[in-house]
Amino acid sequence: MYKPEEIDYELGYENSIPESVRTPLAQALSFLPEDVIDFAIEKCFFACMDEDQLGMHMSTKDFRMNRKSDIITLPARLWSKNKKAIAFAVAHEVAHAYKKHGFRRFEDTDAAVVRRNEKAADSQAIRWLRNHFNGSFKRYTYKEWQL
Ligand SMILES: [Zn+2]
Repeated sequence: MYKPEEIDYELGYENSIPESVRTPLAQALSFLPEDVIDFAIEKCFFACMDEDQLGMHMSTKDFRMNRKSDIITLPARLWSKNKKAIAFAVAHEVAHAYKKHGFRRFEDTDAAVVRRNEKAADSQAIRWLRNHFNGSFKRYTYKEWQL
């Protein structure tokens, strides 16, 4: 089992994570299975902003992304939510990456494909987290009226 401190250490400086976000992000990732945490550390580039940040720029050639396959951005307003909401949002985005949902063809942007991927990411996130939290995740799952 990974401790949040170990995950934070492994994430290192090869991501764009403001100081204030390091601990909540590492905590959220610590609920995931070990092989998924390894995947997130090795393949996902986390691009997070804090409340004071108004924007972010990155080059697609950024050296920190060399070995990464996926970019995960998480909004500043996420970090003031409760532990379960944060864990679910992070697990859901990691699930998209883990299940290789990235658009590879123009057809992938089709609404039906998007809906299917959102539901698949939700189900995966729930499977990963259900032993760690009580109650339903319903309020955090994908709704047709949001993207
Ligand atoms: Zn999603």
